[in-house]
Parts: sequence; structure tokens; C-alpha cells
Amino acid sequence: MAKQGTLAETDPSETLDQRARSYHRARRRLAISRFALNAVFLVGLLFAGWSVHLRDLAWRSTDNVWLAVLLYVLLLGGISRLLGLPLRFYSGYILEHRYGLSNLLLGGWTRDSLKSLALGAAFGLPAVEIVYYTLRRFPDTWWLLCWAFFALFSVLMTNLAPVLLFPLFFEFRPVTEENLKSRLLRLSERAGARVRDVMEWKLSAKSKKANAALVGLGNTRRIILADNLVNQYTPEEIEAILAHELAHHVHGDIWKGISLQLALSLAAFALADQALRRFSPYFGYTNLSDFANLPLLLAASVLLSLIVFPFVNAFSRYRERRADDFALRMIPDVAPFISSMSKLARQNLAERRPHPWIEFLFHSHPSIDKRIRRAEAFRRLA
Ligand SMILES: [Zn+2]
Repeated sequence: MAKQGTLAETDPSETLDQRARSYHRARRRLAISRFALNAVFLVGLLFAGWSVHLRDLAWRSTDNVWLAVLLYVLLLGGISRLLGLPLRFYSGYILEHRYGLSNLLLGGWTRDSLKSLALGAAFGLPAVEIVYYTLRRFPDTWWLLCWAFFALFSVLMTNLAPVLLFPLFFEFRPVTEENLKSRLLRLSERAGARVRDVMEWKLSAKSKKANAALVGLGNTRRIILADNLVNQYTPEEIEAILAHELAHHVHGDIWKGISLQLALSLAAFALADQALRRFSPYFGYTNLSDFANLPLLLAASVLLSLIVFPFVNAFSRYRERRADDFALRMIPDVAPFISSMSKLARQNLAERRPHPWIEFLFHSHPSIDKRIRRAEAFRRLA
């Protein structure tokens, strides 16, 4: 907001670039602050004995182990949510409004936050109970059993999310526009693959940004297109975006993503098991199934995610590049692909040329400028 006075004095494209840079700088600072806050809390739980105190508090209230676990997790989760609330509000509400990217009112933001809190509790509480039940009953193989359970649950949720979870936050309806439908049909035929549905995603109720994605698994597999995109982009531009999403389908990228997630979570469970065995006595945990050790489990998985995060992103950027290449081969003309990228960058305030290190570490997609340059190179070759 403070920079608006200078808008007219500078080259508009440069100003947009500057705005995008400052937006992303602010987002990164917030992400780092949130991470640091969580890390400090985790260190306190582990090294200052906070977790042991919370466990003792839970045991003083009940003799039942299931209830004690429940109480402990409610206390731990409650404190952590409250601590994180100001930064979450700042990044999810204030910042988005400051950069003119949000259509969400305070009431809507609060409703969404409560919904995600309820969802987190509905999934998180049973998950922790299952982990500690397994730790009590099968102390040697708990990590493998929990991982198998997690794997089944992940696959099931990937299937159910488009029909069960997404509608809790957004409205969806089938794309009815005949022109778009027939374009998709022709694309699918040429690609030799069929996507069941294209749904219009009422993102405009909450955001000014545009987006598209391939979601679901099996009978719920579908492409979702933000209404901001359907209404503001030309049919040729939407076709280019559909072709990119169709590529993810043809390349089996959802399964690749799930497989990677399962491999990493297996490593995380194995690492957590080792951490429990080695460090439990040091932190004052009575045995392997002492639920005060939950922060140690979390610390092990956070450590692993930190290490693998850049590689996961690199793999994602590789899949995105391949999807772009596929889309460029599928569409009759490269120009709408390029213009859709420029539009998306403007609308979403994307950083067109992030610092190479930033891109390497944090970005799941190649930068917009790289994607456009690749499309231009494709046009020269074609
Ligand atoms: Zn993609």
C-alpha cells in the first residue's frame, strides 16, 4: 500500500515486478518466522521439559491411557495453535489484503480457520491415538505398522479429498461452456487419455488469484479450473492450461507424488523410531510408548523434511517442465501458452525471476520467465 504513490512515476511492469518481489519477500519472512517459532516451541518441549510437565498434567486428570493421550494432545495442540495464531492471521489475511489478492472478509477467514482446526482435530487426534496404541502393543514394529496405516489413509484421502474436503471450503460445478468442453475432449483424444471431469472452482469467493489443478484418484480424478480463470482468460489460453493439467494425468504424476510421499514417510517413521530408542532416557521419557515423546517424533520428521525439501521441489519442477513440454506439443499455437503465463504472473503476483537459490530451495514450479523462455525456444524449433 505504501508504495502506491510511486506507481505512476515508474515503468508499470517494473512496479509490478517490485510489488511481486516485496510480496514474496514478506511471505518468506513470515514462513521463516513461523518455522522459527515452531522450532523454539519444539526445543522448549524437549529440552526445558515442557512436554513432561504436560504429560504429568494429563496423568493427574485421568487413569485412562486413551484419555491421557487425548488430553495431552489437546493441550499441546491448543498451545501451539494459539502461539501460531498472530502469524497465521498476518500471512493468511492481512498480507493477502495488503497486496490486493484476497476477496475474503474477516468472518470468512475465521470460518475457514475454524473448519481447518476441526478437520485437523478430526484427523490428528485419532492418528496420535493409533500411534500410541501401536507403540504400546507392538513396540518393535510400530513404525512399520503406522506407516502402512498412513499409506492406506493417504491413498484413500487423495481419492476422497475432491468430494469430501474441497467442498468444505469451495463450491464446485461442472464446466458447462460447450466450447471449453469440446476443446478438452479433443485434447484428451489427441493425448490418448480421458479425464472424467472438468470442474469450475469458485475461487473468486475467496481470492483474486487464478489456478488450475489435477486432483483426485480413480473415480474422483478431475481437472479443477478457477472461475477467475474461466472468466478472464481466452479459450485458447484455457486450452493451454488444460493441456498442462492433462499432461499430469498422462504422466501419472499424482501416483508419482504419492509414491514419493510414502517413501519419505517410511524414512520419517524409521528415523522417529531410532530417535525414540536413542534419546528417550535423555529427555526423561519412561518408555517407548510414553506420549511425552511426541515432540521427539515431530522433531525427527521436521528434520527429515528440511533435508529433503529442496529435492522434493526439484522433482516437482522436473514434472512441471515435462507437463509444459507436453502442453506445448498438444496445442496448435504456443502464443496462448505464453500469454496465459504472463496473465497468471500478473494476477497471482508471482515472482517472475526469483533468485536461483530461492527457486532451488522453495519453488515447486519453474519460474514464470523460465517457462516462457522454454515455450519461446519450442516455437523456434517447431
Ligand atoms: Zn502443473
